[in-house]
Amino acid sequence: MLDVLIRKANVNGALVDIAIKDGVVVDIDNQIYGDATVVFDAKKRVTIPGFVDCHTHLDKCLLNEQQPYQEGTGPQKGALTYEMKKNFTVDDITVRAEKMIKRAIKAGTLHWRTNVDVDGSVGLKGVEALLKLKKKYENEIHLQVAAFAQEGVFWDGQTEVLLEEALKMGADLVGGHTIAKGEGEKHIDFILDLAQKYSVEADFHLDESGNREHYLLPYLSKKIVEKNLQGKVNGIHLCTLSALSPEELDEAINYIEVAQLRVTVAPTAISTRNIAPVKRLLKTGLPVGLASDNMRDFFNPLGSGDVKQVALLLSYLQRFFLQEEVDQVFKMITNEGAKVLSIKDYGIKIGGKADITVLEALTFNEVIAYQSQPALLVRAGVVFE
Ligand SMILES: [Zn+2]
Repeated sequence: MLDVLIRKANVNGALVDIAIKDGVVVDIDNQIYGDATVVFDAKKRVTIPGFVDCHTHLDKCLLNEQQPYQEGTGPQKGALTYEMKKNFTVDDITVRAEKMIKRAIKAGTLHWRTNVDVDGSVGLKGVEALLKLKKKYENEIHLQVAAFAQEGVFWDGQTEVLLEEALKMGADLVGGHTIAKGEGEKHIDFILDLAQKYSVEADFHLDESGNREHYLLPYLSKKIVEKNLQGKVNGIHLCTLSALSPEELDEAINYIEVAQLRVTVAPTAISTRNIAPVKRLLKTGLPVGLASDNMRDFFNPLGSGDVKQVALLLSYLQRFFLQEEVDQVFKMITNEGAKVLSIKDYGIKIGGKADITVLEALTFNEVIAYQSQPALLVRAGVVFE
C-alpha cells in the first residue's frame, strides 16, 4: 500500500504518475497501478519539488509590525534597523521569522537561504532563533542560515569572534557585505578566509549600491581564484553591473566566469537603484537565482515571502516575455536557484525525497502570470494541509 499516489503530474512537460512510500518517491511511470492512502489527480498541472528562494533576512522581517515604514535614505533605514536590532530577543526574532516561514511553505517554497545578522548589537540571537526554526521546520522547508556581517567585520571588536561562534553553532555558511563601513578588500579577505577555515560557502552582498566606486567584483573574483573557492561563493545584487559600459560589462562577465560566481538577483532593489542585467548574466550559463530579500521592513514594506512575486517583477522590469524567457525565469526559482544554493538532490526522481508541489497551473506562464498557489503540497512524503 502506497502512502501517496499522484496521477497525471506534469513534470517538465512529461505526464507521469508518482508513487510515494515512507517519505521517498518509489516509482515514476506513465501509469502506476496500486492502492494508496491518498490518491491525487494532478490533472496535468505543473509539478515541481518546490520553489527556491536564494536570499532573504528572516531575522529582520516584519519589523513594520512594530514600527511603521517611513521614507528615508538607505543609511537612515540602516540606522533605524540597527536601533531596533539592539532590542531584539530570541523570542521576538522567532515569532517574526516563523510567520514568514509559514507563508513561504504555503506558497510552495522548499529551499530558502537567509542571512542572519551577527554583531555586537544583536549577538548570536538571530542565529540561535533561526537554527531552531530550521530544525523545527526541517520536514517542510529547507532553510540555509548564513552568519552575516551586515554592519561590517572590524568596527565593534566583536563581530570577528561572533561570526566564528555562529559557524561553530551550526550556521551553514558565512555572509559578507562588500561596502559595509568601507571595509572593502579587507572585509572580503576575512569572509573568504573564514569560509575556507570552516569549509563552508560564502555569500556576499556584492556591489549593492550600484555606484562605480563600490565596484568590488574584480577583487572578489581574483581572491576566489587565489583561494581556490571557485563555485563556492554567491554574489547578491551586483547592481554596479548596470552602470558599466558594454566593454566593461564583458570584462565583468569574465570575472564572474573565472570565479564561477553564483549570482542572486533581488528585483525589489529596483525601488532605489538599477538591478543587474539578468539576460546577459544568463548567457554565461552560470547559475542565477532570484530572491525575496527584505520583507515588510524599512527597506521593503511589501515583501511577502512568495518568490513568485519577484519572478513576475523581474519579468516586467527586463522583459522576460518570450516563451524561452518565461521558462528561464521559472528555472531561476526552481532548478537554477537550486544550483545557486548548491542543493545536490533537487528534482523529482525515484529514490529521492518525496518533496512535491503540484501548482494550480498548466504551464510555467500561468504560474508566473497568475501567481499560482499549490494545489497539493507533499513534504517528506506527508501531504501538507
Ligand atoms: Zn539582502
